[in-house]
Formats: sequence, C-alpha cells, structure tokens
Amino acid sequence: MSHTAWLSKKLDSGKVLCQACAHACKLEEGEYGICGVRKVENGAIQLLVYGLAAAVNIDPVEKKPMFHFLPQSRVFSVGTVGCNFTCKFCQNYEISQYPKEHAHKVVGRELLPEQIVELAIENGCKSIAYTYNEPIVFFEYTYDTAKLAHEKGLKNIYVTSGYETKKAIDLLAPYIDGMNIDIKSFREEFYRDICGSRLKPVLEAVKYAHEKGIWIEITTLLIPGKNDSDEEIRNIAKFIADIDKAIPWHISAFHPTYKMLDVARTPNATLRRAYKIGQDVGLKYVYVGNVDDEDYESSYCPKCHQRVIDRRGHIGQYVVNALKEDGKCPHCGYTLEGVWS
Ligand code: SF4
Repeated sequence: MSHTAWLSKKLDSGKVLCQACAHACKLEEGEYGICGVRKVENGAIQLLVYGLAAAVNIDPVEKKPMFHFLPQSRVFSVGTVGCNFTCKFCQNYEISQYPKEHAHKVVGRELLPEQIVELAIENGCKSIAYTYNEPIVFFEYTYDTAKLAHEKGLKNIYVTSGYETKKAIDLLAPYIDGMNIDIKSFREEFYRDICGSRLKPVLEAVKYAHEKGIWIEITTLLIPGKNDSDEEIRNIAKFIADIDKAIPWHISAFHPTYKMLDVARTPNATLRRAYKIGQDVGLKYVYVGNVDDEDYESSYCPKCHQRVIDRRGHIGQYVVNALKEDGKCPHCGYTLEGVWS
C-alpha cells in the first residue's frame, strides 16, 4: 500500500529531499531511499509500507524495553519491513533488511491506523509501540496511528535508533509519549562500519527529543570486543548523565546473530561492569537486559534505595510495582521519574 510521504520537500534541482531521517536522501524519479521503503513516484516520495504491518505482537511494555512507562501494562507493537541502518547484529534483520535483500519488494499484512488502534483497545493495551524495524522510515504511518491513538486515550512509544531529524521530532512530540533510543556505541567508526550510519545525529536526536519533553530511555547492546571497553561505556553513561541523570539506561546482552555469528555472547561480568560504571557516573536508573538477573533488572528508589519495582524471570513475565500511582516511593515518598499513569 502506498501513501504520500509528506515529510519531504521538492528541491529546485527537481530531486525530492526526504526529511524523515539524518540520511537526508535526495531522490530522483524512480529512486528509493536508503531505507528501501520510500520512493519517488510522479514527483513525490511515496511510503510503500503505509498500512502494511510486517510484525504485530502484544507485549509487556517491559520488553521494549521501557521500565519507567506504565509498568505491567500491555503494548500493541507494530513494525514494517525496511530500515535506514544496516546493523550487522540486527535481531530483526528478516524484516528490517527485507526490501534490500528482495529487490525492493515490500511485504506485510494490511493494517490501517484505525485498525491498529481498535485492536490495541480490544486487547487491553495501554499503548502502541512502533518497533521491530526503525519507525522513522514509516513516519507517516506512525504519525497517523499515534494521533488516532491519543484521541482514544492510548499512549505511543517509538523504539528507535535515534536518526530522526529535528523536524520529525517536532512533529512527533505531541503524540509520542515515550522513546527507547539506542546508543549503540560512542565511536563514529562503529556506526559507520557496523551500522551504515553516523553517531552524531543520534546524540543530537537524544538531546532534542528530551528537550521536547518526550520520556526517554536508552538502550546499549554490549558486543564483546566492539563497544565494551570501560572508556566507551563511560562515555555513553556520561553523555546520558549530562542530559539527565534520571534517564533509564538499559545495558543489554548480545547474542550471536545475522552477520555477527562469530562474536561470543556478552558475559554477565561485562554487564555488571557497565552497570557499575553507569552508577558511578551518577545515573539513577541502570538496568541489565537479555539476561535473567533480578537484582540488576529491578528498580530501586534513588533516595532510600529500597526495591520498588521487582522484575524477574523472562522479561515482563513477573513484574510487581510497589510505586504509588504518581510514581511515589511507598517507603520515603520520593517521586521516581517516569510515565506512571
Ligand atoms: S527515511 Fe529513508 S528515504 Fe528518508 S532520509 Fe531516511 S533513509 Fe532516506
């Protein structure tokens, strides 16, 4: 299904500039963007995956991961094919890289914005997540859905690699309540060689989305030998802390996949080392992910240090939230930062 990708601009040269992500593709008639799902047809960019969901699931919100966002609630999760990154460790490469690997073919089940919102409500979800592949590449689909979702009292989450332009963030900010943004590394070479992108726009997007009042959580997948030195971990943690020490940081374990089958999974000791670095730089909420480690997955009150959200087992399987409705600690009354209702 095709739909005008209106987040774009016609240039004097006759090309069309896509304004969704930092790749800033300038496309001629018939050309596809780097993401493979935006193409110029009849002088305008078309979003080829509008209303075409390639992955749909109902998940615990903790799985996004979002730990300070309506804990214990269900989130209707939707993604399409296509991506603006080419991460060699992608866990969803079958959909994210599909158009590039199938001569620009797009696939998915027809699911219009109003149907997504209806299904989310029918299934008792409190929010909709745009996830699995990079949502900014299907911006117009997310925008229409998120707007409708808000009208019906649902919240919206972007699970993203943080390549949104400022213009896209300006448009999303009224409707997107939470973002989980990857900071995959703190080195340009990593982004260039492993992800086919750049670090700087990601850092700018994190800062800007936070400035716009969107609730942010950060995820870093630690890959042995690639981004797990003390120095790099500390640089990421410091960058987050300089923006806001209350931004939760999820440090996640890598499992060999896609084009990185030759790299070992992340040892628990590395995750704990990163956890300690996050705490040392002053982050209030650090979590490990992709492992079952309740001490490091649970939330503690930054003031009295009591455990206030207990998380155990497979992610989202066992969550007990002792916080009061407004996020107040039941022991000392401190208000934990987050979206609690
Ligand atoms: S969303 Fe796609 S077409 Fe638009 S700038 Fe990014 S990669 Fe290019």
